[in-house]
Amino acid sequence: MLLTVVEAEAGKVANGSLEALTLARSLAADGGDTLHAVTFGAHEDLATPLSEYGVDTLHLVTGDVSEEYSPQQWGSGLADLVAATGAAGVLAAASDRGDEVLADAAARGGHAFGSNCVAATAGDDSWELTRLRGGGILLEDAELADSVKFLSVAPGAVEPVAVASPAQCRIETYAARLPAEMPACTIVERTTRGSGVSLATASVVVSGGRGVGSAEGFAELEELAALLGGAVGCSRVATNAGWRPHSDQVGLTGTKITADLYIACGISGATQHWVGCMGAKTILAINNDPEAALVLRSDYAVIGDLHEVLRAVIERVRARKEIPDAA
Ligand SMILES: Cc1cc2nc3c(=O)[nH]c(=O)nc-3n(C[C@H](O)[C@H](O)[C@H](O)COP(=O)(O)OP(=O)(O)OC[C@H]3O[C@@H](n4cnc5c(N)ncnc54)[C@H](O)[C@@H]3O)c2cc1C
Repeated sequence: MLLTVVEAEAGKVANGSLEALTLARSLAADGGDTLHAVTFGAHEDLATPLSEYGVDTLHLVTGDVSEEYSPQQWGSGLADLVAATGAAGVLAAASDRGDEVLADAAARGGHAFGSNCVAATAGDDSWELTRLRGGGILLEDAELADSVKFLSVAPGAVEPVAVASPAQCRIETYAARLPAEMPACTIVERTTRGSGVSLATASVVVSGGRGVGSAEGFAELEELAALLGGAVGCSRVATNAGWRPHSDQVGLTGTKITADLYIACGISGATQHWVGCMGAKTILAINNDPEAALVLRSDYAVIGDLHEVLRAVIERVRARKEIPDAA
């Protein structure tokens, strides 16, 4: 049996978990295994959406384990569930949480963990993996050989595919006991994400770097992003300068995006930025340097002052949508 750790919000399974389930289903088919899922807390409502992805059984880890995200508690609960069910493999999205929980559970059981995989096939005793390394600029072929194999799936590596004829998904509760004195996370405050689209899942990202020149300079990027139903991103220079919050940063130490369109304004395209935006299907660079790395790697480039170009683009988009000028 293969287990997939599922992340969800308000009853909606995260896209990364659907990607992980799709890869897990193909590994399960290769190895003649059944597909199970696991989540933390009483989330019975997930059984129906998970059945659409071929999940036979949903395990709800409860007992001493907090429903709130608590990496060591979830890792410990998962490690115990793996031992109790005899799972042969555990998958999750290579999200912050997915990687953290898998690393914790794998270490507790002394098992091998292949993170950030873009492909995997099951052999007789081992899995053949292709992993993203070096922040995404290298592909590594690896073999994962262990009695229990842990694997996380890189964002955007697999197209989520539902099954043609879903069967009913059973629910089993696993009341986990935690070792004494295990640290727990305490939620001290919840803040709602500001309005707008999340950077990681936006289909359009309008991003700015040093060339934008100031925090105020991002107003045009915000306007264009709003017109296109997208999100605003930025380079590390923009976050370091305090122009944008770190949650907007695209790159190695920021978010890796998979947008249909990435509009990079005044961004040179350093490797650490490129690894965050290279997953975009189409890249448009707006830059006054025709030799900038991002210009050379982009699908389309406009050479010029980004503020002039953005004003012209906004005007055209407004005209097409028949929205009067904001001014
Ligand atoms: C460990 C580590 C991790 C890092 N992680 C990240 C990361 O996650 N994300 C990230 O972005 N960076 C990251 N960096 C920083 C990265 O190396 C670069 O320094 C950074 O991406 C450069 O940002 P930039 O392109 O905005 O600035 P610059 O490299 O200075 O480029 C500015 C660009 O704007 C253009 N420009 C200037 N004025 C205009 C104008 N008026 N109109 C049009 N174009 C104009 C210039 O021609 C230039 O191409 C990391 C670095 C390290 C060492």
